[in-house]
Amino acid sequence: PGIWRYLELLPVDAPPARSLAVGSTPLVEASRFRAALGVDRLWLKDDTRNPSLSFKDRAVALATARAVDFGFGALACASTGNLAGAVAAAAANAGMPAYVFIPADLEPEKVEHALAYGATVVPVDGTYDDVNRLCLELCDELNWAFANVNLRPFYAEGSRTLVFEIAEALGWRLPDVIVAPIASGSMFTKLGKAVDELARVGLVEPKPVRFVGGQAVGCAPVATAFEAGDDDWRPVREPDTIVRSLAIGSPADGRYALALARQTGGSIEGVPDAVTADAIRRLARQEGTFAETAGGVTYAAAEAARRRGVIGPDDEVVVLLTGNGLKTPQARTFGLAPASGI
Ligand SMILES: *Cc1c(COP(=O)(O)O)cnc(C)c1O
Repeated sequence: PGIWRYLELLPVDAPPARSLAVGSTPLVEASRFRAALGVDRLWLKDDTRNPSLSFKDRAVALATARAVDFGFGALACASTGNLAGAVAAAAANAGMPAYVFIPADLEPEKVEHALAYGATVVPVDGTYDDVNRLCLELCDELNWAFANVNLRPFYAEGSRTLVFEIAEALGWRLPDVIVAPIASGSMFTKLGKAVDELARVGLVEPKPVRFVGGQAVGCAPVATAFEAGDDDWRPVREPDTIVRSLAIGSPADGRYALALARQTGGSIEGVPDAVTADAIRRLARQEGTFAETAGGVTYAAAEAARRRGVIGPDDEVVVLLTGNGLKTPQARTFGLAPASGI
């Protein structure tokens, strides 16, 4: 089990000598939500249960394997939160020091998580884009492997294992629609690449898959460009949302995410925070899965795409839940009157 079972499709020559148990997460049939959404079949890809409780472990596993090959002296990252925990855990496992750079006002749970693995956490007074710019400069000066900066090509490829696992769980078939969150757009874009590759190597029958993306309205450069019919995004200088894991105002792969949604007949939906919090509560209470804010955005994006007609009644839909609710406990009561729902 785990992501190394797809070794021939990954940019490494051999499984690393040491690594965390990443991947092989369940694809759960969501029968209550299926009726509510009004689709033929609905699956939740439950990536809340990776080693550091988010899908970032997949990306980081690839970056770490290459960092060891290349002989870097430390693992590092610019993080919106989940990457911090993933890099810290992978570095601990690989026996390397970890340096994680985060916006200073991040959820305390995510900071504690990275600290627990022994990482050095560097809070930066600014947005994620400020953090990212700082890390770009540090790449030139230090012999550190920044998972999502100088090792980004390898990091990005790790996300494809989500699609490999989905297809395998469906008996080597593809669904009609995949719904996923968008921060930098890296994962979303690579899901599209993975679908093409599986068909090309003959593991699945080729089939058009529509891609639906979700962003929080308070930081939605890609969803805004989709709605406006633009080819590229405009930066959001001051993100304002509880969905910190997706709060990237200048999404590096946003252009490609836009193209994927358009070319496949999908959409990119902007979700208000109150709707996200409500989706988190419903996912937990009706399906028994507690997702972080990105999961709420993603399920709500599926609902928006269903209303828009991008998802139809005969579709088989897979919704990605990419992070665990324990990382964003504040979201549970967001938008409710004080003391309600306890
Ligand atoms: C990082 C992250 C994403 C997506 O990130 P991209 O930069 O678009 O690849 C999605 N969900 C969660 C929970 C994340 O932490």
